[in-house]
Amino acid sequence: MDVWPVWIALLVGAVLVLYALDLGENELQPKITLSADHIRPGEFFLLQVDPLASDLSLQIACPFLDEEPRFFRYGQGVVALIPVDYRTRPGDYGLEAEIVRGGQIVHRLEQGVTVSARDFAIQKLYVSAELLSHRDETMWAEDRVHTDAARARSNSDPLWEGLFQPALTGRITTQFGQIRLINDQESGRHSGLDIAAPRGTEVAASNNGEVVLARFLHVTGNTVILDHGWNLFSSYSHLDRIEVRVGQAVVKDQTIGTVGSTGFSTGPHLHWAVSIGTTFVDPEFVLGEALPWSSWMEQEDVAQR
Ligand SMILES: [Zn+2]
Repeated sequence: MDVWPVWIALLVGAVLVLYALDLGENELQPKITLSADHIRPGEFFLLQVDPLASDLSLQIACPFLDEEPRFFRYGQGVVALIPVDYRTRPGDYGLEAEIVRGGQIVHRLEQGVTVSARDFAIQKLYVSAELLSHRDETMWAEDRVHTDAARARSNSDPLWEGLFQPALTGRITTQFGQIRLINDQESGRHSGLDIAAPRGTEVAASNNGEVVLARFLHVTGNTVILDHGWNLFSSYSHLDRIEVRVGQAVVKDQTIGTVGSTGFSTGPHLHWAVSIGTTFVDPEFVLGEALPWSSWMEQEDVAQR
C-alpha cells in the first residue's frame, strides 16, 4: 500500500493547524465599543477599539464628526472621546472604523449610534451698536488663533477625577446651545453656560487639569482654558482677574480667577464652556450623576486591576 498520500495529508493538516494558531495569537479581532448607543446633540461618548496592535492605524468615519477624533492608548487598545455637535440632526448613524496596516485595510468594524431629538431655546438680546462693534469677524479670527493653539494637543492620560463641578454657583442666564438673536439677527449658538454672579466672585477649576491658555481675548475677555486630558477641555471667560498661568497644574475647586465683564459682555457673569477638541459640548453633561462614560470607565478600571 502506498503511504505517501497519508503523509502528505498529515503534513498539510499540520501546516493548516499551525497557521490557524498563529492567526489566533497575533491577529485577535479588534472590537469597537461605545459607552452609549443613544445620545443627544451636545453630548459625547467614549469610543474604544481593543485590542489594537501598535503597527495598526485607525480611521473613523462618522457623519456627525466635524473634526478628526484624537486617539489615546488605553490598555491593549485605543480610546477617543467623540462629541455630537449641537447642530446634529436626530437619526440613526453608522460609525465605521477601518484598521489599516501598511496602507492595507485589515479589519473593518461598524457600530450604530442613535442621536435623539433635542430642542434648544431661543434667546433675544438687544445691545448697543458700540458693543456690537466689539464682535466683528476679524476679532473672532484673531481669538481663534490662540484658542485653537491651546487645544491643539492634550494630555494622553485623563487628568480629571470623578464628576466635574460647576465653576461657579449662581443663576444660569443662558443655557448651552441656545439660539441667539442679537438685535433680531441670528448670531449663532451659545457654546457654554452663562452663570451670573457679582464681580469679584471666585471662579473654580471644575476638575483637575493643566492651564493651556490664560490671557485677554477680544470677544471672551480674560479667558482661561484647562486641558483635562483625552482631548477634554474647559474654558472660563469674561474674568475680571486671571490667577493662573500657562503650564500650571490646577486641582478641582482651585480658584483660577474672578467673575468680571471683560470682552463682549453685558454685565458680570462667567461663560463656562466644555469642549472635545474644538467642538463644544453641554457642560451639564459632565456634571451629571450618571455619566455613562464615567461608570463605564470605573468598570474598565476594575477590570484592568
Ligand atoms: Zn456666554
